[in-house]
Amino acid sequence: MNSVPEPAKVKKINLLDFDRKGLAAFFVGLGEKPFRATQLLKWIYQEGVTDFDLMTNLSKPLRSYLAENCCLETPEIVVEQLASDGVYKWVLQTHCGNRVETVFIPEEGRGTLCVSSQIGCALACTFCSTAQQGFNRNLDTSEIIGQVYVAQNRLGKDAKVTNVVMMGMGEPLLNFDNVVAAMNLMMDDFAYGLSKRRVTISTSGVVPAMYRLTEVCDVSLAVSLHAVRDELRDELVPINKKYPLKELMEACRENAKLAPRRTVTFEYVMLDGVNDSLEDAHGLVELLKTVPAKINLIPFNPFPNSSYRCSSKNRIHQFKTLLNDAGIVTTVRKTRGEDIDAACGQLVGQVKDKSRRHLKLKLAGAENVA
Ligand code: SAH
Repeated sequence: MNSVPEPAKVKKINLLDFDRKGLAAFFVGLGEKPFRATQLLKWIYQEGVTDFDLMTNLSKPLRSYLAENCCLETPEIVVEQLASDGVYKWVLQTHCGNRVETVFIPEEGRGTLCVSSQIGCALACTFCSTAQQGFNRNLDTSEIIGQVYVAQNRLGKDAKVTNVVMMGMGEPLLNFDNVVAAMNLMMDDFAYGLSKRRVTISTSGVVPAMYRLTEVCDVSLAVSLHAVRDELRDELVPINKKYPLKELMEACRENAKLAPRRTVTFEYVMLDGVNDSLEDAHGLVELLKTVPAKINLIPFNPFPNSSYRCSSKNRIHQFKTLLNDAGIVTTVRKTRGEDIDAACGQLVGQVKDKSRRHLKLKLAGAENVA
């Protein structure tokens, strides 16, 4: 029998790529009422129903239209690791053959999911292992909210995602629209309904995007500061060359104006002999004088070929005490999931690097050795 050529398949629309506003526009485009969006969100995110046919408050013709033309696709868990302290790390396969990582951190009374925003990272912070992977592409909204979806599904009744931190792989503010849509879904009462205090975006300091964020999406802000002098920050967080400390602080002040009692969290990785002198701590107090701030000190987590060491326990304690005594609420981030490389800065996934960073680093390494 001669084989009949298959009709070209039209790519289905992934409805997980839309937040409520996007979905409403999609339904209006179909001649439907905008409230179909809230009905659909409830089925997906609250009832866990992904078969359009079971969505009984949608008309039959609409259900069959959706089944034919749309899909609800998330990345898939391909590796699961459980650390001795209860932290889960999931490696997720994306549709383009790359892999990203998501981490679940259970704590007394809450469960925090650390979500990735990009495949790899285009920035080159010298102390971060994701940076060494290079960059492939931005994650779609469905791949970002999909991390919450698959994590909650996998955890089932055992645990609940109560908090999300955009602190996985990538710089979230360089994937602005998709990250904002995903965070809207996290906070939407018809989807996950998390309060804005429980959704945090962490940025290395993409200043123009910080202003845009302040305008469109009211989530908690964390800033990866890591140095109090431009000269050192240029080296550790190279995007500082583009947006130096003065501009960064101004953007933080603007964000803090959003709500009374609002604070910005400043992350500060503790690198032995690099940024951990008591002079640095005094500099931090001075720098944060005009911003309502909290500080989160992060003990450096080593990774293969990193040239930094973590500050001593003693130094971290001194640093913290000095800051607290100056009136800035300062905590030391507990290192979790260390035995499965799930701690801050250790997420690497599997990135088909398009930025050639990998190559550049290798060459630089070869030069250093030579
Ligand atoms: N790109 C965003 C999101 C990453 S969040 C940002 O820079 O904020 C991850 C946090 O862990 C950031 O504060 C980052 O600077 C920090 N980090 C990266 N590598 C680390 C390491 N090896 N040890 C400890 N913290 C690290």
